[in-house]
Amino acid sequence: MKLILLGPPGAGKGTHARILSEKYHAPHLATGEILRQQIREKTPLGRKAKDIIEKGGLVPDQIVNAMMFQVMGRIGTEGGFILDGFPRTLGQAEALEDFLAEEKTKPDTVLNFQTSEKVIIDRLSGRRVCPKCGANYHIRNIPPKKAGICDSCGEKLTQRKDDEPETIKHRLRMYESETKPLIDFYAKRNLLKDVPGDYDVPELQAELASFFDELKLVK
Ligand code: AMP
Repeated sequence: MKLILLGPPGAGKGTHARILSEKYHAPHLATGEILRQQIREKTPLGRKAKDIIEKGGLVPDQIVNAMMFQVMGRIGTEGGFILDGFPRTLGQAEALEDFLAEEKTKPDTVLNFQTSEKVIIDRLSGRRVCPKCGANYHIRNIPPKKAGICDSCGEKLTQRKDDEPETIKHRLRMYESETKPLIDFYAKRNLLKDVPGDYDVPELQAELASFFDELKLVK
């Protein structure tokens, strides 16, 4: 399975990518998660990205492309991929197209999560994360077993700095100006599939499963 997940922050990309990755045995590559890992490890890349991410901006294409192609080159594309949050600009989309052409492959489909602003704000403001292992929760939709504590490692959960209301607004503006043009980019290539991001997780998973059956994407 070779997928690109496109959509605004809070659209549900990460949640569905994690489930699909387990179900279809394809590596889940979440750009934001890889960047946050670099920040936790205080690498030179992490130091460059920290401020930009906390303010809700986009990390420059050159940095993100190099980072993603290094990861994809290392694990290879034969086993498939689920790209979550990459590409996010036209420059990234073009570079990815060239990278995949060199690998003699292309995406099976690009899922375009159509999610209303009301749902986005609710998901992002209720999101809690584990600062140690990066696990994601939501105070109502995906609560941890014990309130405020990570199920996997017992760490106290926090809110992402970029999930604060003003930063959310800025991230949505970045989506509108930088990422939305990718809808057209992939539609022109006949790769775009609109999906209802407002749906509950099981409902949308069921819809995705029948779409993948149609495409004959096997588990
Ligand atoms: P996410 O976890 O996908 O919401 O990403 C968190 C933040 O990481 C974004 O708001 C950006 O600052 C940065 N980021 C993630 N993916 C990209 C990308 N493809 N290009 C540039 N910046 C990115």
